Amino acid sequence: MSPSKKPKTTSRKSPWTILAWVVLVLVVIFSVVALIRLGEKKTDQKPPKKVQNEAKPKTPPLETKTETFQLTDKNFVPYHQSIPILMYHHIGDFGDSNDYRYMYVTTENFRLQMSALKEAGFQTITFNHLLNKEIPAKPIIISFDDGYEDNYTKAYPILKENNQTAIIYMPTNFIGLTNYLSKDQLQTMLNYGLAIDSHTINHSNLSSLSETEAIRQIKESKVFLEKEFKQPINSFSYPYGALSDATETVVRNSNYGTAVVVTSRASSNNLYTLPRIEINHKDDAETMLTKIESFKEINNRFTWNY
Ligand SMILES: [Zn+2]
Repeated sequence: MSPSKKPKTTSRKSPWTILAWVVLVLVVIFSVVALIRLGEKKTDQKPPKKVQNEAKPKTPPLETKTETFQLTDKNFVPYHQSIPILMYHHIGDFGDSNDYRYMYVTTENFRLQMSALKEAGFQTITFNHLLNKEIPAKPIIISFDDGYEDNYTKAYPILKENNQTAIIYMPTNFIGLTNYLSKDQLQTMLNYGLAIDSHTINHSNLSSLSETEAIRQIKESKVFLEKEFKQPINSFSYPYGALSDATETVVRNSNYGTAVVVTSRASSNNLYTLPRIEINHKDDAETMLTKIESFKEINNRFTWNY
């Protein structure tokens, strides 16, 4: 006999009990259906919420990233009193000639001067650094006028040793002439990090030229250098320091960012007549530093008479 064959025990259920069970089952079914529908409604509401979240901007608008910086008199003002601009011509021995002695600084003096700048904490920049808002704590600009070959053979090796930069103000017609910088020499210095800027086409005294010719010297030299070296040319140096209101206006309207000068017209408050400190054959490292200090004092009066 197997246990499964045990007789079933029957229990009596009243109709009321059955009805109660039926009602209970129905209530459970309705509750389940209601809950499912409620759940469906809730999931229906979710997509709009998602859309709202996606609509929120995740990154700032692109326009803020493509903002360009234009050097203006106004935004230059915070820096102008603390950026001395040195002016050099030849580096090397002036030999027997006394005529142009003032245009020379010996290689040894130049070496001592560059070391002294470094020791004094000066960091050399060009106007390109200003345009890129790269301003060190103690900036200084070293500039060479006329583009003599000794800028490459004598000055450039010393600048490289000290990890320093400079600006060469180059008359475009002088490129490749005897004793002047060649295109390759300029390109090498440019590749290293020096800047080339304009000093007219053939070192003309702008105040002695017709207006048309002055405009040509200022504009075409810039266009030529930009084509030749594929670089924006930002700065201009007036040959002989000769400038008038008219030439200054032409420079200003020719997309130059700055112009430098060594005359009584120099003013640190005007980007197109920025004063420079002439370093000549009489200067060693000590007198150079003294000139820089006095430049700052005089500059505090906003104009600098050379
Ligand atoms: Zn010059």
